[in-house]
Amino acid sequence: MNANIIKEYKDLSVFLLKALQGASTSEAVSGNALATLCEPLEKAADASQVKRIHKQAKEIVRKEQPVDVNLLLSSVKSMKESLLAQSAVENDLRALVDEFKKMITLALHHIESLSLHDKKSRKLFSECREELNKLESIEDMSRYAGKFKQLFSKTLLFEDETERERDELKKIISILADSISGLLHSSGDFDSGLDECIDRLQKAKTLSEVQEIREALLKEAQGLQAHTRQMVEDVRLAQTQVDDANKKVETLKQQMEKVKQEIIIDPLTRTYNRRAYDEKIKQEIMGFQRYSRPTALAIIDIDHFKNVNDTYGHRTGDGVLRILCVIMKKEIRGIDILARYGGEEFALILPHTSYGKALEVAERIRRKVEESRFTYKGKPFSVTISVGVGTLKADDTLETYVERVDQALYRAKDRGRNRVVGEEDQ
Ligand code: GH3
Ligand code: MG
Ligand code: MG
Repeated sequence: MNANIIKEYKDLSVFLLKALQGASTSEAVSGNALATLCEPLEKAADASQVKRIHKQAKEIVRKEQPVDVNLLLSSVKSMKESLLAQSAVENDLRALVDEFKKMITLALHHIESLSLHDKKSRKLFSECREELNKLESIEDMSRYAGKFKQLFSKTLLFEDETERERDELKKIISILADSISGLLHSSGDFDSGLDECIDRLQKAKTLSEVQEIREALLKEAQGLQAHTRQMVEDVRLAQTQVDDANKKVETLKQQMEKVKQEIIIDPLTRTYNRRAYDEKIKQEIMGFQRYSRPTALAIIDIDHFKNVNDTYGHRTGDGVLRILCVIMKKEIRGIDILARYGGEEFALILPHTSYGKALEVAERIRRKVEESRFTYKGKPFSVTISVGVGTLKADDTLETYVERVDQALYRAKDRGRNRVVGEEDQ
């Protein structure tokens, strides 16, 4: 009997030592120190060895644990004393059972104070207490010790894991909540559901609470994901619409440019038309008045063009007009403006050009035209032009300027055509 009791006592002591080690707040110090006592305790052959190890455990735990633990250990001590007494007085079993009950009650109290008070642990503790109240004999004590150990380790394990799991979950959920919150803020959205979750999370005490919040947050995240997907889809759609609109705008721009060109281009000869000429000549006059920029004007008229039409037909006449323009354009600079002024009459605006230079250009054009050969039904023919040339003067208006150049042209016609006459050549 004594040997069984001492074995039970040893087993329970080892278990309590492990429990204290697990519950210890300073793992590095007392947890490890307690762990080193387990083995010698298990190997202890007699009560005096157990007593010595208990003393060491008490020293370690006293430094670390609250009063409860000291009480627990002193209870263990008195139980040990009872056990030792028991070996002398075998019939006083009742005292031993009471001592055991006291010790377990204290152990329960201590472990409960360290636990999370959730439903599961509360149930385990009340089961333990009920069993303890029913405990009557040494045999009961032995049976109970097994059950208590089992319940106890479950509780500790459960609490331990629960705490860790809860903390881990809290961390993960905080990160999740932060990222959702970041997303919501960046999308300009505001969601009070999420804020509520974060608030609840900070106050959460039990695992089930944290788990509930995790579910709520997951729902929020899923909602946000769907919302984001929709946003991405909307943006993509909007982008396509913008692209389409841009293409349309580009096409319209090109069409507008074409229309603008059409407005100032003569369709038959592809030179500037009268409207463009009116605009350009006004700009030249302004440039001269503001910056004294010299500018010249030549008025070109095809000689006896009526005869061309009469002889070769109007269509051939059109062809001649087109080809003459190609010839003349080859002889001028990019900044010069050749415009169809009337039916078979052209104006050539020559910016930054002196009177002498303008005469040269006009003469070169006249000669090129004279040298060109046209054919009608295999028969060659040529055309000539008469040109009047002038430069803008300080006291000129548009009318006086053009009139003076026109007069020069008339003189060219008068003098026999196919010639260039300048304003100064009276
Ligand atoms: P001049 O040497 O005096 O200028 O004699 P001209 O025959 O050229 O002058 P006139 O003013 O008598 O005749 C101009 C002719 O130019 C009459 C008209 O049929 C012709 N003409 C004007 N515009 C066009 C056109 O677009 N196409 C064709 N084929 N002929 C045109
Ligand atoms: Mg003519
Ligand atoms: Mg004419």
